[in-house]
Amino acid sequence: MNNPLLEPFDQAPFSKIKNEHFKPAFLQAIEDAKKEIDAIVDNPEPPSFENTVAALDFAGQQLDRISSVFFNLNSAETNEEIQKIAQEVSPLLSEFSNDITLNQGLFQRIKTVYEQRDSLELDPEQNTLLEKKYKSFSRNGANLNDTDKKRLREIDAELAKLKLIFGENVLAETNKYEMLLTNEEDLKGLPEGEKEAAAHLAESKGKKGWLITLDYPSYIPFMKYAENRELRKELSMAFGSKGFHNDALDNQENVLKIVNLRHERANLLGYPTHAHFVLEERMAETPDKVLDFLNELLEKAKPAAELEFAELEAFAKELDNIDTLQKWDSAYYSEKLKQKLFNLDDEKLKPYFKLENVIDGVFKVAEKLFGLSFKEVFTIDKYHEEVKTYEVYDDAGNFISLFYADFHPRPGKRGGAWMTSFKPQFTLNGINSRPHISNVCNFTRSTSKKPSLLTFNEVTTLFHEFGHGLHGMLANTTYPSLSGTSVYWDFVELPSQVMENWCYEKEALELFAFHYETGELIPMELVEKIKESSNFQEGMATLRQLSFGFLDMAWHGKDPSSINNVKAFEDQAFKGTRLFPETPETCMSTSFSHIFQGGYSSGYYSYKWAEVLDADAFAYFKQNGIFNREIAEKFKENVLSKGGTENPMDLYKRFRGAEPNIDALLERAGLIAKT
Ligand SMILES: [Zn+2]
Repeated sequence: MNNPLLEPFDQAPFSKIKNEHFKPAFLQAIEDAKKEIDAIVDNPEPPSFENTVAALDFAGQQLDRISSVFFNLNSAETNEEIQKIAQEVSPLLSEFSNDITLNQGLFQRIKTVYEQRDSLELDPEQNTLLEKKYKSFSRNGANLNDTDKKRLREIDAELAKLKLIFGENVLAETNKYEMLLTNEEDLKGLPEGEKEAAAHLAESKGKKGWLITLDYPSYIPFMKYAENRELRKELSMAFGSKGFHNDALDNQENVLKIVNLRHERANLLGYPTHAHFVLEERMAETPDKVLDFLNELLEKAKPAAELEFAELEAFAKELDNIDTLQKWDSAYYSEKLKQKLFNLDDEKLKPYFKLENVIDGVFKVAEKLFGLSFKEVFTIDKYHEEVKTYEVYDDAGNFISLFYADFHPRPGKRGGAWMTSFKPQFTLNGINSRPHISNVCNFTRSTSKKPSLLTFNEVTTLFHEFGHGLHGMLANTTYPSLSGTSVYWDFVELPSQVMENWCYEKEALELFAFHYETGELIPMELVEKIKESSNFQEGMATLRQLSFGFLDMAWHGKDPSSINNVKAFEDQAFKGTRLFPETPETCMSTSFSHIFQGGYSSGYYSYKWAEVLDADAFAYFKQNGIFNREIAEKFKENVLSKGGTENPMDLYKRFRGAEPNIDALLERAGLIAKT
């Protein structure tokens, strides 16, 4: 069969691909990749960096290309057929990667090279690759004896099951709860659109009245706008007690089992705790460093948070004679106070952010910083007619990257915004093979009357994803697995978040923020208001983020075997960050899916960590001019082009001249006075 996916291709050949090509292509490419791995293992030559470590990194390239095309389609332009194929091939792909990790012959060769590493005279990138490959085996038990190996597999299987059950329980608890309101008076305060949505939801379930649920699109507006305090309390309690009802869906036991198994797994592999295990491959490196970081932020943010809390309390007292401000009052009075202070709504800002102007703006920013130019091209094969394609060149005219941009929602696209790639950058046989990068968003489409106008939040989203995009486009490494955004988790948001800063700067807005009808530049007092309102209650928000970080580290940074009361343990962990009165009926841990179901265990701190990095990096630009080419060049040379080829702290220090300092974030957030 003639299968375009099995022929070598540079640009993804979308127009030639039919759904029936995927499965056979995957099967064939997996077979081919296995043969490439076998050839490495069976090589009669003694193991060397080139014939083993580098060879492994370049093995299975066709499979990687097919996977990129397929899974990007499954996110951005899917249908039932593609989803079915995804279900069929996903287990095959995980089996293939498990087979590699468990391949003792392969590990022995890598280990031999690893043990000789001091005498091999490898460059920093090669050293990083060797370390990474070795760790991908050792962290999965390749060095253990057979008994311990067996136990590790049992733990992994058990953990996989528990995470699944944990998530299913949270979902079932979320779906189980309904608040049916039959008196319209109870919805007082809600905007018309939200009321309609609640009525529609009730109708769709064959009920009369208005239905409120624990799903965010229903829960958040109710907590923000509903005047009825008793109902807000009821909803808040239901939300906060998911998995905490001592019934079949209770997660307390699951939490304890998960943390104990993680601890045992870490011990088996020679780490003191699960947090030590996780942080070994993070910029933050150790639990102590994470705790120092959280504590330092706490100390600086707490006074501001307490002032904000007192302000909110006084406001609620004045408005409704509320004596003790409770958790279920927070969103409601915060929204009212914010309206009073800023009176800023999206409709006022949107006319200044026509999509085409914002795209033009982000390209101009990239041109001023990095000398890049974006040339729209119409000859490149794409998966949907709405996708825009660009060739990207540097200021010497060298081709840098392909850039795909897919901006609007469609039935086959998942929600949110993301950056992805169809091809990574790498260097093979002396040829620097350039990447194919994509940004996918869900911005409102234009109509016959109105162009696509973005909310300010969408503008920062576009800059954010474009920042990830630059990390991919400017990559300049040898090995594909170290290229672009393949960096430690707590480093990957630096390029994206730092780009958002330009959206608040006059010099940048002057490039693109023109009214779509009058051509008038956005008034700077509006920009000032955006800045101020983005810092509204920043102290309280910081404390909230820190509380989750502390809870995460408490669960994973110590031996958990003596913990028997989930709620009491959690209360202790929250002690330093609490603003609202505690409620014995609620528990965070039993629905903390980020750390017990998803991949954020010992990683919650990274949200704030990334903010510190981006604020500190942008402060460097600000000191020297936000379009300073020299600083931009340092950022490109030491961060954007380097991917994961070296330790991120080393890269950062080379760019900035020092380790990141939290003061820039505190200043930007208005938590401390500018120095
Ligand atoms: Zn991001």
